[in-house]
Amino acid sequence: MTGKAFLLKYGEIALKGKNRRIFEDVLVRKVKEALAKTDGEFAVSKTRGRIFVEAVSEIDEEETIAALQRVFGIIGICPVVLTDDEGFDALAEKVVAFVDQNFADKHFTFKVDARRARKNYPLRSMEINAAIGEKLLDAFSELSVDVHDPDVLVRIEIRERINFYVRELPGPGGMPIGTNGSAQLLLSGGIDSPVAGYMVAKRGVSVHATYFHAPPYTSERAKQKVVDLAKILSRYLGPVTLHVVNFTDIQMYIYEQCPHDELTIIMRRYMMRIAEHFAKEDGDMGLVTGESIGQVASQTMQSLACTDAVTTMPVYRPLIGFDKQDIIDYAEKIGTYETSILPYEDCCTIFVAKHPVTKPRVERMEKSEKSLAEKIDELYRTAIETTETLVVEE
Ligand code: ATP
Ligand code: MG
Repeated sequence: MTGKAFLLKYGEIALKGKNRRIFEDVLVRKVKEALAKTDGEFAVSKTRGRIFVEAVSEIDEEETIAALQRVFGIIGICPVVLTDDEGFDALAEKVVAFVDQNFADKHFTFKVDARRARKNYPLRSMEINAAIGEKLLDAFSELSVDVHDPDVLVRIEIRERINFYVRELPGPGGMPIGTNGSAQLLLSGGIDSPVAGYMVAKRGVSVHATYFHAPPYTSERAKQKVVDLAKILSRYLGPVTLHVVNFTDIQMYIYEQCPHDELTIIMRRYMMRIAEHFAKEDGDMGLVTGESIGQVASQTMQSLACTDAVTTMPVYRPLIGFDKQDIIDYAEKIGTYETSILPYEDCCTIFVAKHPVTKPRVERMEKSEKSLAEKIDELYRTAIETTETLVVEE
């Protein structure tokens, strides 16, 4: 062991009852997967309410923390010193050395907060607080104690082994991926849908994705952009299954047969039908889109009702109440924004009408779709049969 370790804290809310074990086991597995992508080697262990990550090789601390900050379910990451119990004096010495290393300037107030989880330790928590506090004051005269609002909280946990730390970095929160089933994301090259995928994944849902490609109207580069977005998402999601559907013939047929102002909605209805097919194939429990109310004509309440009407699966729209700027802020935070704004064409913008309907009615859409009767079943089947499925990982 190198002495470098991290204490991971996770939320308590979802941990009641028998789900706790499942949640913890998945979280440990996700932590291991995230750490496997770094150059370091680690031992990961779990005790009640805590996960410890210990470096067993030289590590890059920043890289390690960045990897852990992408694991949903973690709320706090504390770089700790993890040590065997070698008596109180040895502990005090180590804490003094640790504070020395971590703070060049010692003009700050502090408080020691010890927890004695192992009751046979000879000193009680309050006694540890007082004794370590005294050692720190003796060692560094610039320090002073403030028990109400300290600048630095020196936390010490006495368990089988002892750990102490002064820093807690935020984790991403949420729940470990896979603890809440899976869903099919309609992933376009835009700003919104990658954020939508991130948000459901954060709640523990494992995400598969479908992209509708319309060559030659959309280029290879437009497809590559979606693959790149899936790669960025894979930092959080793990490997992403991406179905690339060739949508051109369906789109052209709708364009030929249906009123142009209804085009976007009817196209969207076929996207939902095809995404539902892959959702069932992938064992998913719902569809996810990046829509938000009123963002564009195809996202009015009436339009959303028309797209929902073609599927019996729940359609999750995690961005439903977000303003565009909120979504952009999120996209920047998760790292998809720069890729999303690259100027490649999208299959929906090419066929878009000047004045699309904003208040479509389901009955009306069904009627318009009757004019597709001759070929649509075959086109639908072909689209599914010719779909290219990739597994994307960064
Ligand atoms: P974004 O494309 O980032 O989602 P947008 O404002 O461009 O945002 P629309 O083009 O109106 O959104 O699409 C609404 C939703 O439909 C998208 O969020 C996405 O879930 C789905 N969608 C649209 N086009 C495609 C496509 N080519 N492939 C897969 N899904 C798509
Ligand atoms: Mg789009």
